[in-house]
Amino acid sequence: MLLAIDFDGTLTDHDTIDWIAAHYAPDTFDRVDAAFSRGDLTVNECTVQQLAPITASEQDLIRFVLATVSPRPGLRELVDYCAGHGIEPVVVSAGFDNLITPFLQAHGVDLPVLAHTAEFTPDGIRVRFRERAQCDVCGEACKRAEVLALAEGRPFGFVGDGASDLCAAEVAEPRFARHVLAAHLTREGLPFTPFEDLHDVRRGLLAATGVGGSRDG
Ligand SMILES: [Mg+2]
Ligand SMILES: [Zn+2]
Repeated sequence: MLLAIDFDGTLTDHDTIDWIAAHYAPDTFDRVDAAFSRGDLTVNECTVQQLAPITASEQDLIRFVLATVSPRPGLRELVDYCAGHGIEPVVVSAGFDNLITPFLQAHGVDLPVLAHTAEFTPDGIRVRFRERAQCDVCGEACKRAEVLALAEGRPFGFVGDGASDLCAAEVAEPRFARHVLAAHLTREGLPFTPFEDLHDVRRGLLAATGVGGSRDG
């Protein structure tokens, strides 16, 4: 089984893009966040606009994230559980591989990361978007087609929390959700396991797949 895992707000206690934008460019963050809430911007447009004015270096942002953002409890245990039970975890993010990979490495976790890339220029951060097919369901270059392609016909689960997860999570099983994603799945009448930390996800996988034994509980 493939397990597609969102990064921001799912593996971490803060959405790092929001967190960085609110810290380094608070006025822009508030304005763009309000426009996104009104439905005027896509997720990707929101990311581009919020990060555009930030001239801090890549090393500065990595240091800021490492100092102020924590992994949700149970990250290491979840990755170990997957390794021991034939589950292939992959991070599928609407954030940046060059911030995510150093964060995971700093916390002793090695996972494949499929995400965009932030380019740091003297004029601000530019986003180099990962090639994602235009989704024929939501009309955006969302995570759904990418996760379906990765799964190659295998079953796949999804763990997420936010706007970039809604479309892909609809076609996953099992689903693990919190925050905006949990509200969306509830509205759609799609079953999911709520989670607060990643121990909840590991226990949910155990319950869903029926493998592992009590030592994993
Ligand atoms: Mg998220
Ligand atoms: Zn979609």
